[in-house]
Amino acid sequence: MKYISTRGQAPALSFEDVVLTGLAPDGGLFVPQTLPQFSREDITSWAGLPYNELALKVISPFVAGAIPAADLKGIIDASYSDFRHRAIAPLVQSGHNEWILELFHGPTLAFKDFALQFLGHLLDYILDKRGQKVVIMGATSGDTGSAAIEGCRRCKNIDIFILHPHGRVSDVQRRQMTTVMSDNIHNIAVEGNFDDCQNMVKASFGDQSFLPDGRQLVAVNSINWARIMAQIVYYFWAALSVGGPHRAVSFAVPTGNFGDIFAGYLARGMGLPVEQLVIGTNANDILHRCISANDHSKKPIEHSLSPSMDIMASSNFERLLFDLYGKNGAAIDTLMASLNAGSVSQLDPTALAQARKVFSSYRLDDAETLQVISDEYESSDYLLDPHSAIGLQAGRQCRRSSATPMICLATAHPAKFPAAVMQAGYPENPALPHHMADLFEREERYHVETNDLSKVQAYMAANITV
Ligand SMILES: *Cc1c(COP(=O)(O)O)cnc(C)c1O
Repeated sequence: MKYISTRGQAPALSFEDVVLTGLAPDGGLFVPQTLPQFSREDITSWAGLPYNELALKVISPFVAGAIPAADLKGIIDASYSDFRHRAIAPLVQSGHNEWILELFHGPTLAFKDFALQFLGHLLDYILDKRGQKVVIMGATSGDTGSAAIEGCRRCKNIDIFILHPHGRVSDVQRRQMTTVMSDNIHNIAVEGNFDDCQNMVKASFGDQSFLPDGRQLVAVNSINWARIMAQIVYYFWAALSVGGPHRAVSFAVPTGNFGDIFAGYLARGMGLPVEQLVIGTNANDILHRCISANDHSKKPIEHSLSPSMDIMASSNFERLLFDLYGKNGAAIDTLMASLNAGSVSQLDPTALAQARKVFSSYRLDDAETLQVISDEYESSDYLLDPHSAIGLQAGRQCRRSSATPMICLATAHPAKFPAAVMQAGYPENPALPHHMADLFEREERYHVETNDLSKVQAYMAANITV
């Protein structure tokens, strides 16, 4: 399987190379040249498989030729062994023909563990084979950093440096990063804001000469193809659990960078009968405006109670546009340049009509998000985190048929967002799961650094361990 860029001007890459690359050299994102196809019979025959075995079926065609099946099985098994639920991704019924897919049983209590546990093990496997060692560098305002750190804590070929704005991430989120004691894990608290951290990462990727003897940086943000690929699995899993593929199902997804819901779109493209894909957004609603009113104009970021969805431009949306524009790289190159410059804010009407056949969208502000958390707790004793509340409500608002199961993705555990949950009326700090109950007693380790790129880079160069 080869991977091509959405902007059409970069050479096609093998699976291994695509995992080690971030953006394509032409500025695009990598997508598979052809999407694997599964027949109704194939999918039917997977009913009842445990999660890991289903993952092997779904992922195999994407890595064909690169990783032998037995090795891939080993990577998958290692990736999901730290999940604290035997089902990995359990479904809970929340209404008539309506389900919550709990994706928060991984080590950091958010759905990003599905992709980043897998990516960590996959990278280490590829690097082992090549005899290569790399440095992961990333900036985080919350969920991504902790999931990436947990994903790499046992990697033999990777040092990971995560920058966070000093004093500006929540205590739970900081402690999930800084209490991981492996030598290859490095947390840097930068005396600046998230944008400062992000800019240092960008600059470092642009000029990697500060790294010793030929080490390269690897990106683990959500444009990494392997992350999307790992997320396709739970769409098949959930559909099979509620009667698919013999009946179509719908999904509602709290959306930020469009990686999660794009995996659902791919599952549909691979043969899974999916009726609706519902995008839930917070006040940062560019995707909702785009789908509902063909308005893709950028607005300043608003800080919301669902911070992992506070995103102005969803990078993975480009992968959808590539498909909607007939895989025409030149057209996407022009479109992205005009959208980024703000000279165009509309999509081609034919492309948009195509998208609307499957996508619908709904926007919740913080007040409505709190109301949903409170109502759901009152009516069903079920405590939602603010991101998952957006998914659930979007599914309810956009649903076209009550005969089709609606599966709403719950992307974080409520204990990750105690302030919001208590603002919704929950009477106490929501309890962390048992295995994490001592998070606030654990020893922390992190390095505080001034907001200065050369100091951060010098610290990194001096602290590489593998
Ligand atoms: C990252 C994240 C999202 C958004 O997912 P995307 O793939 O960026 O659309 C939603 N909820 C939570 C809790 C997240 O951490």
